[in-house]
Amino acid sequence: MSVYRRRLLTPGPVELHPKAIEALARPQLHHRTDEARSLFKAAREGLKQAWNTQGEVLILTGSGTAAMEALVLNLFAPGERVWVPVHGKFSERWAEIAQAMGLEVERLDLEYGKSVEPGLLEGLEGPFHGALLTHSESSTGALNDVKELAKAFKARFPEALVVADMVTSLLVSPVALELWGVDAAASGSQKGTMCPPGLGYAALSPRALERLKPRGYYLNLAKELKVQKEGESAWTPAINLVAAVAGVLGEVLPQLEDHLCLKAKQNALLYEAGEAAGFKPVPEVRSPATTAFYLPEGVTYARLKEAFALRGATIIGGQGALKGKIFRVSLMGYSDIYDAYAVAELIGEVAASL
Ligand SMILES: *Cc1c(COP(=O)(O)O)cnc(C)c1O
Repeated sequence: MSVYRRRLLTPGPVELHPKAIEALARPQLHHRTDEARSLFKAAREGLKQAWNTQGEVLILTGSGTAAMEALVLNLFAPGERVWVPVHGKFSERWAEIAQAMGLEVERLDLEYGKSVEPGLLEGLEGPFHGALLTHSESSTGALNDVKELAKAFKARFPEALVVADMVTSLLVSPVALELWGVDAAASGSQKGTMCPPGLGYAALSPRALERLKPRGYYLNLAKELKVQKEGESAWTPAINLVAAVAGVLGEVLPQLEDHLCLKAKQNALLYEAGEAAGFKPVPEVRSPATTAFYLPEGVTYARLKEAFALRGATIIGGQGALKGKIFRVSLMGYSDIYDAYAVAELIGEVAASL
């Protein structure tokens, strides 16, 4: 018998919130019933509150990437030009989605791990219809100051739309739409909302709602908007997951400030332990969603992963350009400060075992 309970220490999927597990254990609901409609409305209201928006949040069946694709598809027409700073796997994904949707993509390639400095916008040559930004670049652990970037971008291109990947910042780090000059944002169920994978959230500010250019069929946001206001969705939704999200938000939102403080403190403790153990952090500006450390000289990711696995923990390595070079440990899921102290200790133990 192992003395360890299995633990998921990855930046998505994450350890499930008990309210999610409780919701998932209930008998199957039919999605066109009053009970389902009221859960759907509660989840949408909660997400709007989490995003601090007077606009709308649409719940889509699919992962976070479905929400990213839906936003690009429904806010920009083919041939329109967008600015995409690329500094990790997920910002790279914005560029790939925009390209696949027929947009003209102006990339700014930075080293993986960097954050985007607002000063980098000075040399940009317009016109631009939009910018696709990444708030928490979980592939490198970097955080971007989306508010400053949105402000700088709109100072140059006031008509443009700013769209942000807030997949691992929603419920992990403070976020806002209108207050930050962000017009639309994406997230998904298996990150800060501590639910299983399967839902994408597409947040639209009032300004973005006015500028919708609906396209596509399954991911057509105009169709969703019409029916989601009534607590339904255009197609059969993953209603079990919607119930889980409603349950979690009902518990977390009344104590959101404390929750965000906890997430920041947990991640800081893990970084402290990692640095004390001799691991070098990847990002310059750290997101509270995950730690990211370079693998020590001569240690493969497989060996490090095994050292954590022996202690019951699942961690994750690098993606894209950082594959085989880094490892990431995250407490974004359901966890408290005790977990953070224990995982910090574990990081030290793993380092000593290498
Ligand atoms: C997880 C994640 C996504 C979405 O990935 P899915 O696998 O489609 O849910 C997008 N951006 C960031 C920063 C992420 O961490």
